[in-house]
Amino acid sequence: MSMKDNYDAVIIGGGHNGLVCASYLAKAGRKVLVLEANDQLGGAAPGCAHIINQLNGAVANDLELTKHGLKYTDTNLATIALGEGGEHLKIEGTRVSALNGAALSEEDRVSFNKMMRSLHKFSNLLGPVWGKKPPRLKNQDLEDKITLGKLGLSIRMLGKRDMQDFLRIALMNAADLVEDAVENKLLQGAIAVDSVWGTHLAPRSPGTVLSLFYRLSGAINGRQGALALPAGGMGAVVDALVAAAASNGVDIRTGAAVEQILVENDRACGVQLAGGEIITANLVISNADPKRTFLNLLGARHLDAGFVRRISKTRTNGNTARLTLKLNSLPEFTGLARSDLKNRLLIAPDILYLEEAFNQAKYGEFSNQPAMEIVFPEGAEPTLSALVQYAPYHLKGGWTDEARTAFLEKALDQLDRYAPGIRDHIRESELLTPADIEARYHITGGHWHHVEMQIDQMLMMRPVHGSAQYQTPMPGLYLCGAGAHPGGSVTGAPGMNAAKRILAMEA
Ligand SMILES: Cc1cc2nc3c(=O)[nH]c(=O)nc-3n(C[C@H](O)[C@H](O)[C@H](O)COP(=O)(O)OP(=O)(O)OC[C@H]3O[C@@H](n4cnc5c(N)ncnc54)[C@H](O)[C@@H]3O)c2cc1C
Repeated sequence: MSMKDNYDAVIIGGGHNGLVCASYLAKAGRKVLVLEANDQLGGAAPGCAHIINQLNGAVANDLELTKHGLKYTDTNLATIALGEGGEHLKIEGTRVSALNGAALSEEDRVSFNKMMRSLHKFSNLLGPVWGKKPPRLKNQDLEDKITLGKLGLSIRMLGKRDMQDFLRIALMNAADLVEDAVENKLLQGAIAVDSVWGTHLAPRSPGTVLSLFYRLSGAINGRQGALALPAGGMGAVVDALVAAAASNGVDIRTGAAVEQILVENDRACGVQLAGGEIITANLVISNADPKRTFLNLLGARHLDAGFVRRISKTRTNGNTARLTLKLNSLPEFTGLARSDLKNRLLIAPDILYLEEAFNQAKYGEFSNQPAMEIVFPEGAEPTLSALVQYAPYHLKGGWTDEARTAFLEKALDQLDRYAPGIRDHIRESELLTPADIEARYHITGGHWHHVEMQIDQMLMMRPVHGSAQYQTPMPGLYLCGAGAHPGGSVTGAPGMNAAKRILAMEA
């Protein structure tokens, strides 16, 4: 990179991936500026995400996030699959047990353990692929060959039976996998719902085992698939990333919305802000989603028609809403003690329920009976934080205030089935639909992963052919957000991989 410009690199967006990418580049001696449209940094991480389960270990180590203040209140959150009558199942890693006399056969207990151990083993195998640039099948460079070679070797090293099993299930749908393994409907629902959070998919949709692998590929303190709650909430993770960026010498500006990516001599050369200010840089790196980056900020006129068509056609419609309830006091859930509320609670009673909830979303309606993931984050006041699915971005009639209130009521009705009288505890509520998430965090479609996580939009096809490996058809312009490989969630992996790729390309 030359020093002819003020900045070596300007990063559009101070989401967690933008911050990670900035730190890696600055650590390597580059002069970097992060421009965030909002007043708050971290993108959707502090306002939407509530559980850490995939934070990339290399990112946490390289950026010394513990030194910069990252702490957890719980690094091994258990899950309670709620049964309506108070007969719940408790899932701790690979073990499941019955609460309050819930039905659970010995066969299911053993099969669940066996299935989860396989899922963890297979997810662990894919972990290294998510932490590298996606290998291309043709014209491989040495690093691509090594990534593919290591994956092939790891699959072979599983041994014949596991290898066959891995290849058999990798492209299956989660419903078939789960129904094959266990009979208990509540247990089936609990496993299956983890394959679809944040997606426009239900457990019978193709490829949901792959999204389950992705979700389970994280490890905390060496525990595969573990769930963690950061002390101080998700905002504290962002604070640690900001502290790391500052210590590496990154410049950060908030309230700085980029309106246009500037191009000179067929190369990205800087950005123009909403107020007209121009900032030049040798490289422009976008943490914004691919549609926004290419179609709004760069402009179709700089791209060939085929590429524009592919980007326009990527599936980016979100389906997950985020509910926050500020409470006067903690509610009582039927069959749970107060201390059980430190676990993750799931409302996903069976697979059919999830499919029916999704069917409504397919036709532009929100689910009458949504699936929910609930946690009570530690904080000064009792708060319930929940994911509520399905809430289609394109709701028939649009997300008017009335529609948002109607969906909020559905979510509260649902909670009331498991925690009767919960409405009496609510002081304040906020429901963010995908349309709200789009408006607040500038994510086209309000999608958790920016771009849907299905095989045709993953790996070397993410976000589209012609823009894999963080490069774009426009020289000098790179992607570093969730829409790039490996995908969304608070992982830092796209940011880290993009920085490494940029350093290799622009040495
Ligand atoms: C409802 C919901 C719940 C979720 N729950 C979890 C969870 O529990 N655990 C988990 O790990 N993940 C969760 N996620 C996913 C996670 O929040 C995202 O995948 C992650 O935030 C993506 O990070 P990012 O840095 O790539 O992009 P973003 O977080 O989208 O950040 C991009 C940033 O770019 C900025 N930007 C965009 N355009 C411009 C511009 N023109 N100028 C300047 N700035 C711009 C935006 O304002 C934003 O700050 C959830 C997502 C949703 C929607």
